[in-house]
Amino acid sequence: MIKITFPDGSVKEYNSGISSIEIAEKISPRLAKEVYAATVNGQVVDLSRPLNSDATLVLHKWDDSEGKHAFWHSSAHLMAGALEELYPGIKFGIGPAIENGFYYDVDPGDGKAISEADLPAIEAKMKELASKNLVFTRKEVSKKEALDLFSKKGDQYKVELIGELEDGTISLYTQGSFTDLCRGPHLPSTEPIKAIKLLSVAGAYWRGNEKNRMLTRIYGITYPKQKMLDDYLVFLEEAKKRDHRRIGKELELFTFSPKVGMGLPLWMPKGAELRQNLISFMTKVLKKRGYKIVATPHIGNVDLYKTSGHYEKYGKDSFQPMLTPQEGEQFMLKPMNCPHHCEIFNATPHSYKDLPYRMAEFGTVYRYEQSGELHGLTRVRSFTQDDA
Ligand SMILES: [Zn+2]
Repeated sequence: MIKITFPDGSVKEYNSGISSIEIAEKISPRLAKEVYAATVNGQVVDLSRPLNSDATLVLHKWDDSEGKHAFWHSSAHLMAGALEELYPGIKFGIGPAIENGFYYDVDPGDGKAISEADLPAIEAKMKELASKNLVFTRKEVSKKEALDLFSKKGDQYKVELIGELEDGTISLYTQGSFTDLCRGPHLPSTEPIKAIKLLSVAGAYWRGNEKNRMLTRIYGITYPKQKMLDDYLVFLEEAKKRDHRRIGKELELFTFSPKVGMGLPLWMPKGAELRQNLISFMTKVLKKRGYKIVATPHIGNVDLYKTSGHYEKYGKDSFQPMLTPQEGEQFMLKPMNCPHHCEIFNATPHSYKDLPYRMAEFGTVYRYEQSGELHGLTRVRSFTQDDA
């Protein structure tokens, strides 16, 4: 027998080898229908994973992010399975769950394309497959086996991913005739996926790198009930009416100019006033909490960011250092304000009695986001944060 401890502290005994879904079933058959993933000893796993020793167990329903994640991630596999049937030879990149739904990056092959007009047919195929209650089965394989499988299939993206994995950590999941490289967790079967909507198609460079091939990213969302999907689609329509890019244009708050550069917002008079009001409000709040306002330049010596580690994180893939007439001297647009703040702290002696020492800056920082990722004011190459 093994002892299972639940989140409320209660402990129950079960036969060794029992799975989380079987435990849920024993608690109540209704619960078993509502759970989508389990956390065993702090690790999120498939509900079907057998438990062989004492463990803590959390069962995740829809309302837990872990539950939704498993649901949507399984839906990404379901979509991939449908795509493979409809587009033989299609190649797969990655297919994660996201905040709302999931996507899969795919390569339909030279001269072939998938557009939004194709989504209803893919959706129909997904529904057909889901209704077969296909079981997700996990198999742990060696690196060689995984490489052989995906090389034979010609899935070069998966081969590339497997190449970076360590032997002994690789698992495959199969539902129906579709097998994917994946860590999991997934639903026990496609049975709970009742409502399916594919939302849009976009281009996405493999691994987010503009030098790589452009893949087709298909976004979708699924729910256990049709009503939940209907509500979400209404929400999306309402959100469209409130899209900040639309409001920003209509109210003349901000604009972008290709002459200045993509992702570099230009605040128009009304927007700048709104921005100023926000800064005033936040300054009051910050001061009330003991923060002192500081101001620092937009650039700093490259060595500063090498010390802070930001150069390693942002240097290669971001705005490149600028040279000066001084031989060997290099400056960088700041990707963060904190290295500058550390120097302000270092400028005067401090006693432990001064701690916590709080400073804040409405500092503008610069990061070179990929052009495909730029989005209104939510994904930009220059933004101002109340760095505190
Ligand atoms: Zn997966």
